[in-house]
This record gives sequence, structure tokens and C-alpha cells, in this order.
Amino acid sequence: MVRDVKDYQGAEIFCLNSGVFRGPRRGSKAPVADGSLSKEPAVDIDKKKTLFMVLLQEYLNMAQDQGGMALTLYLLDSQSSYLDLSEVIDLLPSFWSVELLQQYLLRSLRRSYHEFKEMQIVKGLSLGENLRICEELFQLYETQGPVVITADDICHVCGIAVADSVFMRTVDMKTIHLHCGSSSDSQPLGTTDGPE
Ligand SMILES: [Zn+2]
Repeated sequence: MVRDVKDYQGAEIFCLNSGVFRGPRRGSKAPVADGSLSKEPAVDIDKKKTLFMVLLQEYLNMAQDQGGMALTLYLLDSQSSYLDLSEVIDLLPSFWSVELLQQYLLRSLRRSYHEFKEMQIVKGLSLGENLRICEELFQLYETQGPVVITADDICHVCGIAVADSVFMRTVDMKTIHLHCGSSSDSQPLGTTDGPE
């Protein structure tokens, strides 16, 4: 579309539609990226990103007199959500000024910062979850008490003494080797690194 019929808008809409040709919808404008990518399936976003990167490279490869620079800048500004700064920055000619890219850079940085903050929230939530599970584990240890292993204790799977090798306890409170437990179907209740 870019090379032969020079339908740049069509090419951009084609990218926005994840590479699917769709008839024009009456009464609706061309799809516009509004930054709300969260509702889209990740596969679609990845496909659009790949397509937009191809389109960007086409624009960058155009001869000077064909307006490739203006098209590139327009594409960067309008579809910044699909064009990752880390991938784009290496493709751009080194003589382009920061001012030219100001809008795109600002949007990209804002988005990166937003994603960074979002990740921090997820991290915080995960840490909280981690703490809660730790507490549950400690309570389990407390109610079960220590496991005493003597020289007479044998593994219920292979029959060899547990001694001071790594062991675990099954749901029905049998002491077995950790390696025996991982190969059997038994459900470990709690594992520990050795005799307590
Ligand atoms: Zn064993």
C-alpha cells in the first residue's frame, strides 16, 4: 500500500485493524489509538506493534522528496502506544533533533512512567500476598510441631533410612525422601531441609 498506491492512511488503518481488511463503517471515523490498550487481547497488541514497526521502517526507507520524514513523525505522534521507544530509537536517523520528536518522546516517557507505577502496585500486592502465605506457613509449622527423625525412621516409598537426607511429609503424615516424594503422587504437606 505504501510503495505502490501510496495509501498511507489506508496502511495505518490496516495496521490498526491488526492486518485485517475491513470495509469502512458509516458514521465512524478512522480508528484512533486513545491509549486504552488494556481491554485488547495481548496477541492483537503484539500484532499491531509488529505491523506498525514494519510501516515505520517503510516510511524511514522512503526517499527524501516523498515526505517520509513527515509521515514518520506523524505516525510516531499518532500511534505512539504501538511504537516502543526502545525499538524505534535505533531506527531513527541520528541527525533528527529531539525537538522534532518531542511529542512522541513525551508520550512514550509518560507511558513508561505509568507502566512503571503500575508494576510497582502489582509488586506491592504480590508482596502482601507473599507475607500472608508466609504467615499461613508459620501457623502450620506451629500447629504441627517439629518432626523428629531417628535412625529407625525409614522412607515410606523406598524403604531406605531417612537419616539426615532431605525429607518431606505426605498428607497422611508419612516421612519420605524429597526425591521419592516428587516422583510419587503423594501430596506434600510441608517440606523442610532436614531434621529439626
Ligand atoms: Zn525414599
